[in-house]
Amino acid sequence: MHYLVKLVVLVMVLGNISYAKMSPTQLQSQSKSEVAKVVKEAYVKYKNLKEGKNADYIKALAEVDPKLFGIVVVDKYGNVFEAGDVKKEVSIQSISKVFTLALVMRERGDAFVKEKIGVNATGLPFNSIMAIELHDGSASNPFVNAGAIETTSWVKARNSQERWKKIASNMSSFAGRKLRVNQEVYKSELSDNKRNQAIAKLLEAYGRMGSDPLKATTVYTKQCSMSVSAHDLAVMSATIANHGINPVTKTQVIPAKYTPKIMAVMSTAGLYDNAGGWLYDTGLPAKSGVGGGIIAIVPGEYGIAVVSPPLDAYGNSVRAQKAIAYIVEKLGLNPYAK
Ligand code: GLN
Repeated sequence: MHYLVKLVVLVMVLGNISYAKMSPTQLQSQSKSEVAKVVKEAYVKYKNLKEGKNADYIKALAEVDPKLFGIVVVDKYGNVFEAGDVKKEVSIQSISKVFTLALVMRERGDAFVKEKIGVNATGLPFNSIMAIELHDGSASNPFVNAGAIETTSWVKARNSQERWKKIASNMSSFAGRKLRVNQEVYKSELSDNKRNQAIAKLLEAYGRMGSDPLKATTVYTKQCSMSVSAHDLAVMSATIANHGINPVTKTQVIPAKYTPKIMAVMSTAGLYDNAGGWLYDTGLPAKSGVGGGIIAIVPGEYGIAVVSPPLDAYGNSVRAQKAIAYIVEKLGLNPYAK
């Protein structure tokens, strides 16, 4: 054999041996330090960025500290990588839609969601009424307000109280701890939710609601007021990444067969009328909320969550998008690039 070929073969063999000798934890700990480093870098890079503006159509949201900034990544083993304000809580807002969708899927199956609610993008803002009219009375998907209120109305229950209990305990199972409502946000949003009530009544007129539209809107409003930290959101998204098993509590929260369906809707409509732009930049299913949180999922690997209240014109957190895109880029997490 030529000397160079021999050398290449030797390097390959040695490489394989040392790779094979490494225990899974050693392999994991290498990437663990890399993940920890990149999370810290993202925090430092965007810490002082002041773009965007808190949501103010719900008065309590305008009063949240715009400087809040926390980044958390949770892997499928339950390891946590974090930087910044990771324990400070904000209202979950639209990110709650992901988990109520999971609940209705578990109760009624994924075909029901596709047929009754829809799984297509609207191309219009999250609280659009016109979108319903343009689509024959369909909400189009469970992540715009119309589809989310509709989803909430389909949670099986005898009354609103029971419906709320199921929704709250489902979100808590995803987070691995008992979540509580931010009463101040809830009250503020209840007095600012005429538009959502109008949406729910319109959907009722089209025969789309599973239960009383105004009561469903109130339960939906409460679900949006649930208080969560970046840490909670990362565990919740890691549960979807980890085939429905919460990586911290090890509980199977939703059957594995539904997580690809949930991620598909997140890819199509998670960042509303900028869902395409987001997917183009990162390739990851994600969901934003006007409280300033965004979750993103690396299927089979990580849940990522960032909290930072100032939003762009689409209603998506500016720093959260930038921080997640940075982490995706640096760690090579775009699934389309695998
Ligand atoms: N509760 C908010 C609303 O109904 C949620 C919107 C959002 O986070 N995009 O308007």
